[in-house]
Amino acid sequence: MNRYYFDWAATTPMCRAALDRYVEVASHYSANPSSSYKRGKEASQFLTDERKKTASLLKTDPHLLYYTSGATHSNSIIFNSLLLRPKPGRVILSSIEHSSILEYQKVLEQKGFEVVVVPARGGYVDPVAIENQLTEETLLVSVMLANNVLGTVQPIKEISERIGSFERRGGRRKIHFHTDAVQAVGKMELTLGELGVDSASFSAHKFEGPRKVGLLYLNESIETLSKGGGQERTLVPGTEDLAAIASLNSALEHTLSQRVDLSSLRLLLEKKLQEYAPITLLSPSIESNKALLPQIVTIAVDRIPSEVFMRVMDDKGFELSSGSACSSKLATKAHRLLLSTSINLQEAVSAIRISFGPYTTEAEITLLSETLIEQATLLQKQTRRIFYE
Ligand code: PMP
Repeated sequence: MNRYYFDWAATTPMCRAALDRYVEVASHYSANPSSSYKRGKEASQFLTDERKKTASLLKTDPHLLYYTSGATHSNSIIFNSLLLRPKPGRVILSSIEHSSILEYQKVLEQKGFEVVVVPARGGYVDPVAIENQLTEETLLVSVMLANNVLGTVQPIKEISERIGSFERRGGRRKIHFHTDAVQAVGKMELTLGELGVDSASFSAHKFEGPRKVGLLYLNESIETLSKGGGQERTLVPGTEDLAAIASLNSALEHTLSQRVDLSSLRLLLEKKLQEYAPITLLSPSIESNKALLPQIVTIAVDRIPSEVFMRVMDDKGFELSSGSACSSKLATKAHRLLLSTSINLQEAVSAIRISFGPYTTEAEITLLSETLIEQATLLQKQTRRIFYE
């Protein structure tokens, strides 16, 4: 049976260039970049050159980039640094952050921080709602760039401007503004310097690169809980994986150079699904002209729990997700995220995320829509029989 991959927001297959580059660099650079002999120095120079490459691809300064083991790690560096502040303060998060950020709410509150979670109606964070929560005690604001469940793109620049104007009006201290930019790479225009953030997180496996390597963009110095050999200017101690870093660059280059507009596939999917009333679009429509990623869309199938529907679709060869792959084992988390956007409970428990990529074809989208409708119809009949006959 053919398999159809519609879970690109969870992870992506590594592109050929990234795979080849990994093998090439792993075969050639076997020395530790911290070693002082010739081959160690060569490895260290290689790392410097790769960092310059990443910086040029992301249109930023190499000194602002740190290689990490992925976005979870990058996010944790920012949030752990709060624990080393001389005293706790206020932290503002959007309700649609990834669990690698939302899970810090509990930790921070236990340590005496005041954590404010700002809801995102319709999947969008309101910059004014963030501004209204800023106080003299605010240490950090975290709002993701593109949401991994609904595909909505957040008004990061406006939030940054509002934080800036609060600071200029006499805020006592600098407020750190962090964004989780994992889902945005290769899917939308991205110039780090123009976003107005102090830090941003990335993961290579979301753009056809290897797993467990990512980036932290950071434009100020922060304290870190991890201690060790001083690599990545002490922020990420531990021996660097040159092959993974070089492979990340190949994937980034590949992704940015072959960016394709997937709006027409999204429109096709929406049009096909509109023909069948029990399927509701939970993401904003591509026709709404709202800021969104066309390749991430969440739907709900009336009265069918997502786990049931996903299993049925899996049997037909379609790989979909319920909300976010990271939280699919913690279904209530995905539900909580959707509920915070004013989606109702019945829709939240039936939510199915469809995410596609640059190689997805029109024929695959058509087949997916037809199978979704066919299977939903069958399940609807069965539920009606169970409950009403
Ligand atoms: N943030 C977002 C928005 C994500 O979608 C993911 C991956 N699901 C992460 C962070 C975590 O990335 P990783 O698993 O690579 O650390």
